[in-house]
Amino acid sequence: MAKKGQTYFCEICRQKVVVDKEGFGVLVCCGQEMRLVGVKGMMATWTTVHHKPEGGVKFVCNICGQEIDVIVETTGILECCGQRMQRKEANVS
Ligand SMILES: [Zn+2]
Ligand SMILES: [Zn+2]
Repeated sequence: MAKKGQTYFCEICRQKVVVDKEGFGVLVCCGQEMRLVGVKGMMATWTTVHHKPEGGVKFVCNICGQEIDVIVETTGILECCGQRMQRKEANVS
């Protein structure tokens, strides 16, 4: 299960997301499970950033309530709990 602050990426389209709110669903992109990026190594800087990316996009699962921030956005389809996640702009004021 995804934990808040964890970074996941898609091996196929290279889309990268950070979990903003935990859910019980499994994050899927391009039809396969997204890979958890370790907090150590070259990706460490991603998880130490506290503020949301400028103009960031957020995706929400309507079933388990999981929310993710997209760091690297691609055309890959993000899914959770077997359905497409709902896109919403993160910095709507
Ligand atoms: Zn879900
Ligand atoms: Zn993908």
